[in-house]
Amino acid sequence: MIVKKYSTTPYTEALKVLIKRLNRNHPRYLDIKEEIRQKTAGDIGEEAVMRILEQVKLPYRFYVFHNISLFSESLIQMDVLIITPYYALILEVKNIRGELTFTTNPSQLIRQLENGEINVFDSPVIQLEEYEYQLNLLFQKNNIPLPIFGAITFAFSTSYIKASPLKTTILTRKQIKPFLRKMKTGKPLLTNNELDNLKNYILKAHKEFQPFPLISYISINPDSIIQGVECSYCSLIGMKKVQHNWFCPKCKNYQRNAHEKTLIDYFLIYKNTMSNIECQHFLKLDNKHQATRILKNTMLVKTGRSRNTKYNIRSPQ
Ligand SMILES: [Zn+2]
Repeated sequence: MIVKKYSTTPYTEALKVLIKRLNRNHPRYLDIKEEIRQKTAGDIGEEAVMRILEQVKLPYRFYVFHNISLFSESLIQMDVLIITPYYALILEVKNIRGELTFTTNPSQLIRQLENGEINVFDSPVIQLEEYEYQLNLLFQKNNIPLPIFGAITFAFSTSYIKASPLKTTILTRKQIKPFLRKMKTGKPLLTNNELDNLKNYILKAHKEFQPFPLISYISINPDSIIQGVECSYCSLIGMKKVQHNWFCPKCKNYQRNAHEKTLIDYFLIYKNTMSNIECQHFLKLDNKHQATRILKNTMLVKTGRSRNTKYNIRSPQ
């Protein structure tokens, strides 16, 4: 049973917001674009794996978590975690196109594309071993007697594995179901009740990765962020405030609440508080009265008084 279902990572979404507000000639533009491409590919792979896991049937109780982050020695961010009365299994999901070679000493993943281009990635073997080790520590601390297994899972057949790692299990998406059916069971190590408690513990201990506002996390100068309200029809940043409405000078559309998306973007990438003057600048308003009306929005929470009044975004319930 899926207890934490697939969702895109907020980090990828924030990167997509950021790139729209950076000039193409910004020194980090291409890096960020490449990171979005990799993260999006990763998300697509994880979604495909989760779709398979939704269909899995086993003769015992099991719980599946997508994208779970637990704090052990450090924060471990597992793509997929499965717990059962017999074992726990971590899946490290990869969506890397091309011919792939795992090397040891040093441990790397080398990819060759059809055009001969070669790229070197950090080895998922090392990462998976680290997660297994740290999850094991966490289980020991909480007296959970489950053995922990891991597998690197390739989501699509566009990955061709030329040389596998020596000890680590490699699965394709189609092998997930038979692999789970063949897992050794025997005498259960947890009762169903204990397994339910472990599920609740993991959900409660999950720490959402919160690198926001993003420009502080990835060190981008706030001055390089393009300010203005974004048009949802043509993506122009720089809609004009007209009475009771926003007007796009490019596609000539009107949109009454266009500022709401821009407010969300501001808190996601730019700053975690907004004053009246910051609102005027970021939304390119003409005066403080327009900002006051916009800041009365129900999405925002007010703190402080008069000159010190600031607004934060209301956290989702
Ligand atoms: Zn437009």
